[in-house]
Amino acid sequence: MHLPIVRGAWLAMLVLLAACSSPARRADPAPAAASASPPTLLLVSIDGLRADIPGSGRMPTLDALFAQGARAAWVNPSYPTLTFPNHYTLVTGLRPDRHGIVHNDLEDSMLGRFESKKASGRDGRFWGGEPIWVAARRAGLKTATMFWPGSEAEIAGTRPDHWRPFDGKLTPDQRVAEVLAWLDLPANERPRFITLYMEQYDVAAHAAGTFSPQALEAMETIDAALAKLLAGLDARGLRADTNLIVLSDHGMADVRTSDTAYLDDVVPESLYAWTSLGPVAHITPHPGQAAEVRRRLVGRHDHYACWDKASLPPAWHYGRNPRIASIVCQVDTGWRLQLRRHPLPHQPLKGEHGFAPEDPQMRAFFVASGPDFVPGATLPAFDNVDVYPLLAHLLRIRAAPNDGTLQTFTPVLKPRAAPAH
Ligand code: AMP
Ligand code: ZN
Ligand code: ZN
Repeated sequence: MHLPIVRGAWLAMLVLLAACSSPARRADPAPAAASASPPTLLLVSIDGLRADIPGSGRMPTLDALFAQGARAAWVNPSYPTLTFPNHYTLVTGLRPDRHGIVHNDLEDSMLGRFESKKASGRDGRFWGGEPIWVAARRAGLKTATMFWPGSEAEIAGTRPDHWRPFDGKLTPDQRVAEVLAWLDLPANERPRFITLYMEQYDVAAHAAGTFSPQALEAMETIDAALAKLLAGLDARGLRADTNLIVLSDHGMADVRTSDTAYLDDVVPESLYAWTSLGPVAHITPHPGQAAEVRRRLVGRHDHYACWDKASLPPAWHYGRNPRIASIVCQVDTGWRLQLRRHPLPHQPLKGEHGFAPEDPQMRAFFVASGPDFVPGATLPAFDNVDVYPLLAHLLRIRAAPNDGTLQTFTPVLKPRAAPAH
């Protein structure tokens, strides 16, 4: 007799529970899961591709993206304009001074030497802050990296769900095929954040020059891979639900091997240790030699300048991290710092970066398309720390504290009811 009442009470409770639960737990799991997931976010980096290359007629696919997508006049790289510091800034929103990858090669007083391209580069203890894939995973999103500096290290106790040790032999086409294979995973396993990194232009430009036949060929190869990526998205019907960002870490300048300045012409090598040479030198005077080394080194020289780490140009936001040596020397564009006893590399260097971030040749590029972006909208230049809050916004996750601002992207973002940050 009282069964209907009991059933009625249960029904009422179920209705109440459904009303209280998150949208992801609504009755029909399939559409609910789809609506709860953010659009897939693809972050593509073309290492070293200067801001003046997209739109210049050399890379038709990138040019078309640039013409139709949301784009920036250029992106200011962080200091120093090297690959690892800047890639890690892009995914953390922290200046290198703050995330701790202050150079491609560095020295930590506790951990010892870090060399980005060697095993120490994969030691998570060197990598400060929190890359975007950590927060994405915490939010329950699957993540995948088709290479990215930092992705091979266990940072904050985690790695992307899918990642691979860096392998320069994997062609851009093979990398794109892997990304598309990830996108073919069932919806609940499919990564919502994916990186794709391509260094072929950087490698060719270093070896042969910014617009050498080799560099142009690398542009072509990368562009063809980008075309395959876009075709793959279209073929899967994913284009409308994918935010795509294509950018670079820094630019590139032509150099001559003969344009080398020698530190030991100014102060003998016996008075200091160095952590890095090349475009950016980190110098630590030996005990008792600080005053002498500073007297000789700090200031302007032919083709380079040196600073006490506390007095570096403020615009570089660099000098507080304990991993930065007490004296930092920055070469003028085109030059490099060396020691006389070091032989010059066997292969002449024809292209280089690591020069001052204000140099237009060091500017990076940015273009984006997808459901969150206003097609054809343009942005003035911005600092690359701003990319991280944008990534968090696009993934609908809370950004960790960072040095950037999402406001930068207001002109290119479609308005959304409730931003997730
Ligand atoms: P650099 O030009 O010295 O700033 O460094 C860029 C080079 O680093 C690229 O051309 C790649 O060959 C290499 N590279 C990029 N990512 C990685 C990685 N995750 N692990 C090791 N080497 C890398
Ligand atoms: Zn680079
Ligand atoms: Zn490089």
